[in-house]
Amino acid sequence: MIIVMGVSGTGKSTVGKLLASELKIPFYDADDFHSEHNIKKLSAGQPLTDQDRRPWLENLGEQIKKWQADGGAVLACSALKEKYRQMLTTIPTSELSIIHLSGSIELIKHRLMERKDHFLDPSILKSQFEDLEEPKDAIKINVNQLPTEIIQEILTKMSKKTAFGIIGMGVMGQNLAINMANNQVKLSVFNRHVPGKEEGIAKDFVDRHASLGIQGFDDLKQFVDSIEAPRNILLMIQAGPAVDAVIDELTPLLGSNDLIIDGGNSNYLDTNRRDQQLAHHDINFIGTGISGGEEGARKGPSIMPGGSRTAYERIAPFLNSIAAKDRNGQPCCTYVGPEGSGHFIKMVHNGIEYAEMQLLAEVYELMRNGLGMLPEEIAKSLESWKTKGLDSYLLEITINILRKEENGELILDKILDAASQKGTGGWSTEAAIKLGAPLNTIADAVMARNLSAQKELRTSANNLYGQIKNSIDENSDDFLATLQEAYVAARIINHAVGFDMMKEASEQYHWGLNFSEIARIWTNGCIIRSELMNSAVNYFKDVDRLLLHPSIQKSLQDQKQSLARIIGQALIHGYPLPVFSSAMNFFLGYVNGQSSANLLQAQRDYFGAHTYRRVDKPLTESFHTEWVAS
Ligand code: NAP
Repeated sequence: MIIVMGVSGTGKSTVGKLLASELKIPFYDADDFHSEHNIKKLSAGQPLTDQDRRPWLENLGEQIKKWQADGGAVLACSALKEKYRQMLTTIPTSELSIIHLSGSIELIKHRLMERKDHFLDPSILKSQFEDLEEPKDAIKINVNQLPTEIIQEILTKMSKKTAFGIIGMGVMGQNLAINMANNQVKLSVFNRHVPGKEEGIAKDFVDRHASLGIQGFDDLKQFVDSIEAPRNILLMIQAGPAVDAVIDELTPLLGSNDLIIDGGNSNYLDTNRRDQQLAHHDINFIGTGISGGEEGARKGPSIMPGGSRTAYERIAPFLNSIAAKDRNGQPCCTYVGPEGSGHFIKMVHNGIEYAEMQLLAEVYELMRNGLGMLPEEIAKSLESWKTKGLDSYLLEITINILRKEENGELILDKILDAASQKGTGGWSTEAAIKLGAPLNTIADAVMARNLSAQKELRTSANNLYGQIKNSIDENSDDFLATLQEAYVAARIINHAVGFDMMKEASEQYHWGLNFSEIARIWTNGCIIRSELMNSAVNYFKDVDRLLLHPSIQKSLQDQKQSLARIIGQALIHGYPLPVFSSAMNFFLGYVNGQSSANLLQAQRDYFGAHTYRRVDKPLTESFHTEWVAS
């Protein structure tokens, strides 16, 4: 049973009739049930009193009971006050939907003035607006649209089915769900049921956020059935076998053209495989990187979807609504490319992140131990860098970390100096080997973590070799200025390393990646957002390789000496600088027109007859030398 309510002129009868015809149930207009006495008053422009209305509403309440027993109906009735609606609510509220048609007084007045077939004087409109008590549980529809559009909105809002599903109510799943629901997406969520361990997780979450109207399930079939077909289902679960297990369980429950979106940090090779596997079942698949951690997921992450473009276009409005926004207010979300390209670029994003974090750790080591600076002095120094084009999320959090105390002591000093690496860091190094691409800074950042994890071994070696680190006796202002320049250079080179690897992948896999767009969606919401990334958006409009941009060339020409000087001083004084050094070595190798690889080729041919190519002969020909006279 549906009541379409609102002040006169909102189109209750038109909308009510269309709705009734769409739902194939009868339509009634409450005005047709007025007594002659009421009609006379209304025609004379006199407002009805509550006494006039009571018998009319009581009669309608009785009719509603009958209509509902006969299979339901649509009733158009102004029902402006709560007490009037209570008189109409003669059936359980679960069986009654109230549609509130609303609009501004100017709009309604304009519509009323144009009417010829209605007996209500437009002067009564003002008193109707004064009488209107907005219903709390009604479906509110703005009448500033075509009747057909109004019907579509009502049907969507009345449907108990949701528009989107999320599987996995861990840290990311919960925060993305809150973000989506806050953006008016009707949502179903699911978490697995493991007796004695994981029970009622989704329902607990939904109860804790009751105002968001999310539906929670721990039964997969009920979850799937609750979503409008073609379904959109986002997986936010641990990468690896868990994703395959959930896809296997989900596949038989899905229909043609449904879509599974893997939003975890899956390996791009797994995403390529799943893309093909699901295509056999006529199920769409998207693998998307989502960056920004817990806060990003809740307030606006950077989203990197790859896979089916048609499926992407279907869910783009959902993703765009929850994504962070760039400087121009555009969503930090774009279609990346086919297959596992979305997960590939997320992996490289994380690789760049590893090296950016390590660079800051190396800066900290030199300042704290080499120059003997106090944490607050380091924080102040880094803060001054923010104004010199070096602002970034990672610099910001590093400054905060340097100021965070616990019981009057720096927390940082209490944290064990052993870092691990999981998934994406190591995978990017494996991918570089597979693609034959250099990945110096990122691979060295991964190795630095591996070495840091060997804490016991490092302690024994330290005992054996004794103190290696010495203080750096340099004019510290001069050293700090040089360090800042070296940091600028190392960051540029690190970004070039990451983007160059994506260029290799794009060419080898025919993905057609757009690097300016990738940089753009990394300008906000993600962990490597920075001033440099903002500039990179424009650099990549001119070139595909960062180090070949004239502005970058100019800047590195000036800064390379500072980079070399810092590395030299650090190594002489006993400080390891794996990523600074790696950046320098990559750069020198990159700009080296004549490398020493000719010697490598000669050696290979010497011991293994592997042959070589000659600079004085066509490169299509191979040569071998008998290096030792027989
Ligand atoms: P999390 O808090 O550990 O949650 C993992 C979720 O996966 C839980 O709901 C868990 O269910 C579910 N799960 C694990 N194994 C499962 C299985 N075999 N079958 C069904 N469900 C299973 O992890 P998270 O931080 O939300 O991360 C989710 C994904 O996002 C991961 O791929 C992660 O790498 C990626 N990611 C995380 C971040 C971050 O900052 N946290 C950022 C970007 C991307 P139970 O509760 O029942 O165990």
